[in-house]
Amino acid sequence: MLRYRTFRSTYKLLQKSQWWSKEQIEAYQLLQLKKLVEHAYANVPYYHTVFDERGLGPNDIRDLTDVERLPFLTKDIIREHLHALMARNYAVRDLELVQTSGSTATPLGFYYERGASRAREWAFVRSAWGRVGYRFIDKCAVLRDDIISADRGSDLEEKRLFGRWLTLSSRAMTAANLATYVRLLRQFKPKYLQAFPSSITILAKYMQENKIEHFPTIKALLCGSENLAEWQRELLEAVFRCRVFSWYGQAEQVTFASECEVSQKYHVFPEYGVLELIDARGQPIVNSDEVGEIVATGFNNPAFPFIRYRTGDLAQYADLPCECGRHHVLLHRIEGRANEYVIDRNGVAMPITTIWMTGDVINVDFEAVSHFQFFQDEPGKLILNIVPGRDYEKCDSGQLFGALRERLGAAMDLEIRLVDHIPRSEAGKHLWLVQKLPIRFDSQP
Ligand SMILES: [Zn+2]
Repeated sequence: MLRYRTFRSTYKLLQKSQWWSKEQIEAYQLLQLKKLVEHAYANVPYYHTVFDERGLGPNDIRDLTDVERLPFLTKDIIREHLHALMARNYAVRDLELVQTSGSTATPLGFYYERGASRAREWAFVRSAWGRVGYRFIDKCAVLRDDIISADRGSDLEEKRLFGRWLTLSSRAMTAANLATYVRLLRQFKPKYLQAFPSSITILAKYMQENKIEHFPTIKALLCGSENLAEWQRELLEAVFRCRVFSWYGQAEQVTFASECEVSQKYHVFPEYGVLELIDARGQPIVNSDEVGEIVATGFNNPAFPFIRYRTGDLAQYADLPCECGRHHVLLHRIEGRANEYVIDRNGVAMPITTIWMTGDVINVDFEAVSHFQFFQDEPGKLILNIVPGRDYEKCDSGQLFGALRERLGAAMDLEIRLVDHIPRSEAGKHLWLVQKLPIRFDSQP
């Protein structure tokens, strides 16, 4: 019941609030921020202590920029003060432990408000998808991290939501199974396909290599949870011949952004939290040509408040306004998640995306490659595992090596290994980089 009521009320608000004026948005955000800080000071021991130490109180939040007076919250602080970050006015049975996996060495644990946090999130996701016409009654195929229970007769597919969702396992994407997926999708005739970009890319490459026709019923691909590179968008649009719609969020639920009906810029939902972009010195970014780290304060999880949380994700402001008429902050180039960095011999972190996602490395050098994955467990040493494609020649390794060497710089050794297949992560994701080294983005110069 709590779940449904929370979803309904959040969804109803979003239907209306998306068209608010700039002033209405600011007034709403300020009210939510004040409420959150007041609550955190009164009920969350960690915040009570750090606010006291800085001589700050709830009354110091008079406008939105006052959020900058509050200290940052980092993953290390959460690990260290997990218990003290839980709001005392919530019973333990009302909390749900959330564990992020990802490819980094140390996972992060924190809490949701049981029943409510996920329901609110779904209201935001549902509201975003509505921009490309998604309705609850629509048939949707899912290619994400879902584990298919073996007792359903098949370990590849499963029907959910009264048969409206066809869930395909993203952990079994072998060539033989991909043929089955194509057949299942043709039979099911989905209107939408939601997927991890990496999973759907594998299906798209398979369809392209085997000259498989697109699915005419699919109106849009709904891509979330990972970076969507420009080459991926182009490939997906060419193969599926429909709109690729992407959104951005994170398990910590501090900020949420999605494309709109008319633009590929990420519209930041103001009802979700307060977003800041900060530079390496912790100062606010003002120019749209500067990349900053996404720091955000979430409104939706008072049971375990994230205030000025450093996500480790990077973005740039995009120019306002958008033709759709919403007065939202716009971002582009959300990328370089903290777990997508490689570390050179001098301890300098560089985003893996700048090595292979930009320019045309991917189009030229990776053409004959079916799948690939970078792996690092030692600073200054990077391994690239490659599953050779049908047209892969020996000389391709040499070419690829040369192109990547140039981008990696002198402080990084590269080794290319040809492999038969690339294992999935625990969450079923097809990671481009498995990073076993701890990345401390907040300590980068
Ligand atoms: Zn727009």
